[in-house]
Amino acid sequence: MNWHQVIEEVTCLTQELIRFDTTNPPGNETPCIEYIAAVLRQEGIEPVVLESAPGRGNLVARLRGDGSLPPLLLMGHVDVVPAEAEHWRHPPFSGDLADGTVWGRGATDMKQMVAMELMALLLLKRSATVLKRDVILMTNADEETGGKLGAGFIAEEHPDLIRDAEYAINEGGATSIELDGRLFFVCSTAEKGTARFTVRGQGEPGHASQPHARNAILPLSRALVRLIETPLPLRITKTAALHVETMAQHLNGELAAALRGLLDPATHDASMAALPLAEPVKRRLAAALRNTATPTILRAGTKINVIPAQAECDVDCRILPGTTLESLTEEVRAVVGNEVELEFGPVSPPLESDPASPLFETIRMVLAEHEPGSTLVPGLITGGTDAKRIAPLGIKVYGFVPMRYEGASMTGLAHGHNERISVANLAFGTRVLYDVVSRFCAALP
Ligand SMILES: [Zn+2]
Repeated sequence: MNWHQVIEEVTCLTQELIRFDTTNPPGNETPCIEYIAAVLRQEGIEPVVLESAPGRGNLVARLRGDGSLPPLLLMGHVDVVPAEAEHWRHPPFSGDLADGTVWGRGATDMKQMVAMELMALLLLKRSATVLKRDVILMTNADEETGGKLGAGFIAEEHPDLIRDAEYAINEGGATSIELDGRLFFVCSTAEKGTARFTVRGQGEPGHASQPHARNAILPLSRALVRLIETPLPLRITKTAALHVETMAQHLNGELAAALRGLLDPATHDASMAALPLAEPVKRRLAAALRNTATPTILRAGTKINVIPAQAECDVDCRILPGTTLESLTEEVRAVVGNEVELEFGPVSPPLESDPASPLFETIRMVLAEHEPGSTLVPGLITGGTDAKRIAPLGIKVYGFVPMRYEGASMTGLAHGHNERISVANLAFGTRVLYDVVSRFCAALP
């Protein structure tokens, strides 16, 4: 394999994908999807391209194996979140290559991974590798606004294209963490669900020139102050326990104790303070250990001179595997008290896959070769991804984007200003992903 040439190719692919403005909304992913389809056709792979709505293209391509084992699905999305160009050092849809770095919206979420997955498929095809598992590439629209017109559309309306897959590799919540000079790669094996709700205060109307204390804003405000200031209780999932324990086993006594201390309510706060981790990493870790309820949208009052009889707030609530609506209601009630109403919307359930699997083991082995001394740890995604869309088909989804930690400047790039990826990391990711896919899917010679 001429890796030098492969890296040049995957860098070009990443740049080209970034140059399609797939800001969602409105998305307009079809031209980007058609570009990927053209690349595949040039190499003799015929993809299926399906629009869920005008301009909302999705692609599925399959490299056939001998059918002795079920397929591996490589999934990704090409839509991106909006970018405020005035804050960027290189225009967000330039795909500029400068100082060994590719710049642009989608460079880490997740056009780089789509390019790497596409590259893996092309390399397997070019080398005519005999496969025991089919390798399926699914590239979707619409992930950033929930995936209904992307992975959801494929899973619900064209499930036969992917439903025989046993495992999927998807984007993940974290890439890698560095602690005390040791590198930990995270493979997400669990994902939080959502249980959004509205908190509502009731009061009595009246003329604002003659105030009274039954203003609906009062009970609502009291409840919200408590909700923002009081974290919901710790809930230790199997994934979180393994995440912390696996890292602790590879660290010195003091750090290991601090990590393990996170799992105990009595020592949690002090342990978090003692850990030498960047703030965003700590926030992610804290959110992985409890349900979270974040007030985001307020509504009260219709007229400046009328005391509102009703005031409400929508709360973005993310729930851990094992949480039920009943247990969540109890947790929230204990914080907000009884003077407000709670109204829950539809629940999107959390996911948890078993980290003890042949795919997890393959990823662990490949990483140990490419990054000796590193450790693979299972992790939990605090947000939502397309994994939720395809999990109902029975596919075990792992969130794994092979990227090396390159310092604190790497955190917050996804959805932030100046999103970018180093060519070194593209090279690393492409080689690791190719090795994982070929080792997991190729028939032994
Ligand atoms: Zn993403």
